[in-house]
Amino acid sequence: MKTLGVCAMGLAAGELVGGGAMGQTGGGALPAPVPYALPPLPYAYNALQPVLSEEILKLHHDKHHAGYVAGLNKTLEKLQAAREDAAQITALSRDLAFHGSGHVLHTLYWNSMTPGGSAAPAGPLGQAIDRDFGSFKSFAAQFSNASKSVEASGWAVLGYEPLGRRLLVLQSEKHQNLTIWGIVPLMVCDVWEHAYYLQYQNRRADYVDAFMKVIDWPGTAKRFAEAIAG
Ligand code: MN
Repeated sequence: MKTLGVCAMGLAAGELVGGGAMGQTGGGALPAPVPYALPPLPYAYNALQPVLSEEILKLHHDKHHAGYVAGLNKTLEKLQAAREDAAQITALSRDLAFHGSGHVLHTLYWNSMTPGGSAAPAGPLGQAIDRDFGSFKSFAAQFSNASKSVEASGWAVLGYEPLGRRLLVLQSEKHQNLTIWGIVPLMVCDVWEHAYYLQYQNRRADYVDAFMKVIDWPGTAKRFAEAIAG
């Protein structure tokens, strides 16, 4: 079964790690790991206004996302010294999943939006949405409802589940709970309060409705094409 890698997400390795080419797999050589680093936003801090303010994007990217990257690197460093210490493994495993999923999902979140929004997808992604959700309208309703009703902090995720070869919408509590292993996330909505509270306060539904208007469908279609190519 396909693993969830940065290539499968349709993101250049540099977007996740801040540099380096996609794995050097030529000649059967083992691809070298690259350090985790905060990727730059794919647009200006003010480019998503009025849906999301410059202030929110600066805080969310420069403080929150950066915090997950720092936490992930710190956890990896701690694990190096603690692999044989059973007392530390539970907490460090949780930290690894929390910060690692936070980094992956935020990287995809920035790439799930595009200034001005985009038309509903045609082509294979449009066909798959019609097949798996009934219609684009039904998909949009399920994704919005999933975003609005995640308990506490979390995400809504449109993903490709390769075992059944279909699109699914999942909710994720925190960053790492409630997932189906192996799903390739294609487009996500961050519904932690830090993503919208400064601008929308407790009106999460208003934020989600606005988010739905700036989804980057061409980018999502590209990630879908790469996911189904295997
Ligand atoms: Mn966030």
